Amino acid sequence: MTPYELIRAKRDGGPVPPEALREFVAAYGRGEIPDYQMAALCMAIFFRGLEPAELRTWTEAMLRSGTRLRRRNPGPRRVDKHSTGGVGDKVSICLAPLVAACGLTVPMVAGRGLGHTGGTLDKLSAIPGFRTDLTLAEAVRVLDQLGVCMIGQTAEIAPADRRLYALRDVTATVDSIPLIASSILSKKLSENLDGLVLDVKVGSGAFMRGRAEAEQLGRTLVDLAWAMGCPSVAWLTAMDVPLGRTVGNASELLEAVDVLRCAGPEDVRTLTLRLGGEMLVLGRQAASVPEAERRLAAAIADGSGLERFRAMVRAQGGDPEVLEAPAALLGPLETTEVRAARAGVLVSVDTLAVGLAAVLLGAGRTRSDDAIDPGVGFTIQHRPGDRVEKGDPLVSVHHRPGQDVGEVCHRLAAAFPVADRPEPTLPLLVARLEVRRS
Ligand code: URA
Repeated sequence: MTPYELIRAKRDGGPVPPEALREFVAAYGRGEIPDYQMAALCMAIFFRGLEPAELRTWTEAMLRSGTRLRRRNPGPRRVDKHSTGGVGDKVSICLAPLVAACGLTVPMVAGRGLGHTGGTLDKLSAIPGFRTDLTLAEAVRVLDQLGVCMIGQTAEIAPADRRLYALRDVTATVDSIPLIASSILSKKLSENLDGLVLDVKVGSGAFMRGRAEAEQLGRTLVDLAWAMGCPSVAWLTAMDVPLGRTVGNASELLEAVDVLRCAGPEDVRTLTLRLGGEMLVLGRQAASVPEAERRLAAAIADGSGLERFRAMVRAQGGDPEVLEAPAALLGPLETTEVRAARAGVLVSVDTLAVGLAAVLLGAGRTRSDDAIDPGVGFTIQHRPGDRVEKGDPLVSVHHRPGQDVGEVCHRLAAAFPVADRPEPTLPLLVARLEVRRS
């Protein structure tokens, strides 16, 4: 089948032979298929979808376009977590070292901020000197030594996906469930994992705002991971309000470290324990999630999770002592309060608007080469359901001295509506999705 015939077959909803699909992706990875043909195929997939067998073939070909992270044999079991992204989601930062402190290896390949959502790499990069650009050989050395590393996608990891993602971004084909699932798993499975936990966000700050589409993405991811030999569980979790109290790179980093100090917001701790609990069960370090959560809580209480994080910071070029001096990490800041215009109950949060306001403030990017300011951000002072009086602060905006934050405050004021009566909100842990057994 020629590339033209394959595109036409998918466009018309007909069957596509696996070997033709495999060869198409491999040739794209080698630079032999032009972007315009790949874009046409992605648009056909956007409308027609991929059958489960086609999705598996497509993802395997993406994975094979690069290398997999070497592992010691026999070595500790390897697990990881992936979040589909949200606002204030700093869980990976405390989760990875905590799970490593419980005996598993966590080779986390993380992402930068995308649109309104923050990225783990940007938060870690708030630590001066911290290198997220380790080579695979360097990453494996840190992993062998500490059981945890946190790096960005290198040129060696799923390079076909790297090129394809940029193409999808400009051809309106990002929000296709099979293309999202294959993109995520081609990167994650290159870590050579024994288990993967997926945190699929749902709500106003998530890419999948509705429960049905979030559930479809979660199921597609779990089924695909299992089909490719990686045991997996997904949680649908709430993103109808920012996670924790902070939004902003350095402040989120500090909030995640607070969780490792037995402090930090309850929702971040709860989610860390639940996702970590699932990782420990997949990694056969615990027989049940409650038992696993007790082990993780003990690794917080005895400081071993924090110690592992500090060791990782040191191994990746940063100085963990900066975590003891938040003011130095944040730099000079002023605070402007966004206040309630009336008394009543905070009914909801437009979390997408909060994320976009953070980008406007300088905490995120509108273009991939934009610089970000790690220190600026928000403190969320109230959550939906809270009673507020007129003039109470709803959000504190932390900005550089003299920075004009009029538009940011205007947007935030509209994102925190106050009314007479509360409205229903999502529970933090919405649903657990396991593999479908036929
Ligand atoms: N994250 C990814 O890695 N890929 C997608 O396609 C969407 C989100």
